[in-house]
Amino acid sequence: MDAHGAIARISLSAVQHNLQQAKRLAPSAKAIAVVKANAYGHGDLMVASALQPLADMFGVARFEEAQKLRSSGIKQPILLLSGFLNAEQLQFAALNNFQVCIHEFAQLAVLETTPLAAPITAWIKIDSGMHRIGFSPEQADAVFARVNAITQVVQPVNAMTHFAQADEPEQRSITETAIARFQQATAGKVRHTALCNSAGVMAFPQAHSDFIRPGIMLYGITPFAEQQGSDVGLRPAMDFTSSLIAVREHKAGEPIGYGASWVSPRDTRIGVIAVGYGDGYPRMAPAGTPVLVNGRRVPLVGRVAMDMATVDLGPEGTEQVGDEVILWGNGLAAEEVARHVGTIAYELVTRLTARPKLEYVD
Ligand SMILES: *Cc1c(COP(=O)(O)O)cnc(C)c1O
Repeated sequence: MDAHGAIARISLSAVQHNLQQAKRLAPSAKAIAVVKANAYGHGDLMVASALQPLADMFGVARFEEAQKLRSSGIKQPILLLSGFLNAEQLQFAALNNFQVCIHEFAQLAVLETTPLAAPITAWIKIDSGMHRIGFSPEQADAVFARVNAITQVVQPVNAMTHFAQADEPEQRSITETAIARFQQATAGKVRHTALCNSAGVMAFPQAHSDFIRPGIMLYGITPFAEQQGSDVGLRPAMDFTSSLIAVREHKAGEPIGYGASWVSPRDTRIGVIAVGYGDGYPRMAPAGTPVLVNGRRVPLVGRVAMDMATVDLGPEGTEQVGDEVILWGNGLAAEEVARHVGTIAYELVTRLTARPKLEYVD
């Protein structure tokens, strides 16, 4: 018996392979490897260290994420994808070779009035249709004129945009319109441009431009609903694993777990897994969600609890206490589990809690 609780086994060689795959798809672009949210749950310091030889830059969402990478010895420029919140952050950014996304007039005002110790590289965010952050194409000229007058900003300035629907193959024209809007707003006015998230890298080569910003694909997960990473040459970087802590005979007609949400139609064997929402396995995972026990696919049954989840091994099941369980990863794509749960694989990998250890296997 070799039982263990939930562990996320991370393959850094898979992450390296996946970045190389992104670079092969966009051979003329430089790569901003997106490692926000603890590298989508994979451990930002370990992932960024492994990608140092391959990534031209790193991208994060929060100032604190950039600080952590820099103070741990990551050397590349780090792009703050949501910019900065105040003058102190901007000053720290300039001193530490962070690059900043500018998406708000309030940020422009701080840039104009805060003395910086070193010039800063800024990326003007153009709202090409997502309508979340960024300047509209109509505002672009005025924004460029204002930024061009700020001597502590490296000139000419860069520009970026973010696609809302690049992962929807039946909505290609929406992304084509976004690309055209961005190009119109920026042509001849900027140094470098960056448009593509993973879906853009994979589906819109005409938008690769100077820099790509792959995120989810680095972790071996495809953004496209009907695919999984292994279909497109990506390698899953996380095996979310645990083990059986009990195997029980279970009688037909008896319920299992909180709320008695599932009642067995037959005599069977139930495997109890040391994983639950306390580890980040989703409580909303319904009966029938696939789980691999010793490499065999079995259905989740009953309600996922904080520390345990139960699977139906079937009357002939031979699995034993201590046997290995894979919740998602190699052999069971996070994308497939996400479809059962009604979410996306981005959320599954990103919301592991602090309880499961991250173990780096290669
Ligand atoms: C998160 C993010 C990305 C990466 O997106 P993926 O879909 O994970 O590839 C790229 N650009 C911006 C601005 C982001 O916020």
